[in-house]
Amino acid sequence: REVLGTPKNVSISKTPSGKYYAAIVTEQDIPHAPLNGDKIGLDLGLKEFAITSKGEKFENPRYFQKSLRRLQIRQRRLSRKQKSSSNRNKSRLRVANIHEKVANQRQDYQHKISLKLTSENQRISAESLNIKGMVKNRKLAKQISDIAWGNFLTMLEYKGNIYGCEIYYVDRFFPSSKRCSNCGYIKEDLTLATREWECPECQHFWDRDINATLNLMLFCESKIPLEEGKSTPDQLVVRLGMNRNTGSGQEATSEA
Ligand SMILES: [Zn+2]
Repeated sequence: REVLGTPKNVSISKTPSGKYYAAIVTEQDIPHAPLNGDKIGLDLGLKEFAITSKGEKFENPRYFQKSLRRLQIRQRRLSRKQKSSSNRNKSRLRVANIHEKVANQRQDYQHKISLKLTSENQRISAESLNIKGMVKNRKLAKQISDIAWGNFLTMLEYKGNIYGCEIYYVDRFFPSSKRCSNCGYIKEDLTLATREWECPECQHFWDRDINATLNLMLFCESKIPLEEGKSTPDQLVVRLGMNRNTGSGQEATSEA
């Protein structure tokens, strides 16, 4: 493909499956797109990959899980091959190809969703995730590695700069699930198993995740006052990602 901007350096890499890539770092001025579209809250999860306050749900495709059986069969065959034989090498490539396919599927899926979200919205409020802490949970570690949230948030941040969308993170101790986003009632006895609940105060019936995303959005809109004390985060939202005000000198990577 055509190289945009001034090339700065090139690095050549070879994947375990034997494909060569040249990554070209270029420098160019990328004009910031004006902020436009909706303001939404975003929740990332394992059951659904992402849920927005507009009620959109993106399924978790579990690419690794789906390839697991095939991978196990290939790996078993590989382990039986004689060392440094050409059959062993062929077998090794088959295993590497499965890993590569999973990584590509995941990458492709996340590119599509992050593009959709950043081009349709001007502000996304998400919960800050303690990914490292979560990966320590042995039962969930594999699923969490498969879902690659960190990678997805990086995409949201740089695409946000290009398509005009700010990404805000809310302190993860903010009780976004327990608070009724309609009236502010805090449902203290809400358990993880409760997927839907009715607010005893205003009788609004909630899908747990959608209510949480609405709270994240409202908090970033400053419609949830800090005086609510315990129910609000200690610290205000922090925005990560590139600084919107540096107009030039951003680096873009293109692969050919
Ligand atoms: Zn309520």
